[in-house]
This record gives sequence, C-alpha cells and structure tokens, in this order.
Amino acid sequence: MEIACLDLEGVLVPEIWIKFAEQTGIDELKATTRDIPDYDVLMKQRLKLLEQHGLGLREIQAVIAEMAPLPGARDFIDWLRERFQVVILSDTFYEFAQPLMRQLGFPTLLCHRLEVDDNGKVTDYTLRQKDPKRMSVKAFHGLNYRVIAAGDSYNDTTMLAEADAGILFHAPDNVIEEFPQFPAVHTFHDLKMAFCQASVRDIPLQ
Ligand SMILES: [Mg+2]
Repeated sequence: MEIACLDLEGVLVPEIWIKFAEQTGIDELKATTRDIPDYDVLMKQRLKLLEQHGLGLREIQAVIAEMAPLPGARDFIDWLRERFQVVILSDTFYEFAQPLMRQLGFPTLLCHRLEVDDNGKVTDYTLRQKDPKRMSVKAFHGLNYRVIAAGDSYNDTTMLAEADAGILFHAPDNVIEEFPQFPAVHTFHDLKMAFCQASVRDIPLQ
C-alpha cells in the first residue's frame, strides 16, 4: 500500500505569508522556511511583526479568502487521489487553510493550530509535534504504508529523506543544490511522472 504525502504552500497553493506581506506592504513578513529553516524562529518573528503592526487573524484571513490554488493544482490533486491515498503535511495552520482546502476538494490535512484571543490577536501557536512531517512519514511506515513525498523547501527535506521516495517540486536552486539526492521537477506534468516512477505499482499517467 502506498501513501502520497504533499507539502501545501509552494506546491499546491501560493505562500500565504508572502501574499499577506504583499497586501500589507510589510516586507519582513516575506521570509519563509526557504529563508529561515528554523520554523520556530520564523514564527516568532512573524508574531512579533503582527503585533508591531496591530494585525490579527481577521486581517490574515481576509487576504487568504482572496487566494486561489496554483494553476493546475486542483487537477493534479484530483489525479493523485485517484491513484494514491493522499495526505497533505503542512506547516500552515488550520485557521488559515480552510478556504484553500475547499478549493482543493478538502484532502486530508495535518498541520498546526494558532492561538488567538477574543480580539483576534494571534498570541501564540501550537505545533502539532516536533519535526511533524518526518514523524508523519514514520507513523505511516508503522502502519505498513510505503510513502512517496513531494515538497519545495527546507522544512520538507526530513520528510523527503524519511519517505521511500522523495521529490522536490518548485524548489529554489539552493535547495536543489543542497539536496541532489532528490529528483527535482517543476511542472505538475513532471510531478505526475515522478510519482508514477516512484511507485512500485504500474500507475497509468492518463
Ligand atoms: Mg512549501
């Protein structure tokens, strides 16, 4: 039995914080795990910036409500779900993901939670567990699943390494260079091919 594990931001949907940074004009909010590999450091910086600028969950959700999946993402995930059990492993938050997951047909999502006070201020966040993507792959192995994983960034690399097959998708050059052991593809067509090749089954592309 095989499970496909996919990162969300940068793979199926745009980077939420980058969109929010563009809308608010706060350049420092553009940093992602591509720039700051330690997620805890990155999130603490984001929460500090939100507080400094008096922004809360409502303002972020208003930006997300206008967002759409990347072109071709819905077709890709529908294709993948016909051929694999699919789980999205993301470092986003359930409070952010809902409108985008609706547009993707609500695939299973494992991510984190924000802590928000009555005024909508984001006071803290709860990571589901440490190294959550890799731990999820380990858990699926414990359930006797073979895992094929795809992601675009530093926070995906432990997941890709733990998986039976790991694929870089839409990854920046520095990540591709640092992790040459993973095949790197840049279009949904090539990602479909990579999943077909990584599978132990004979998967029809069409
Ligand atoms: Mg990503």
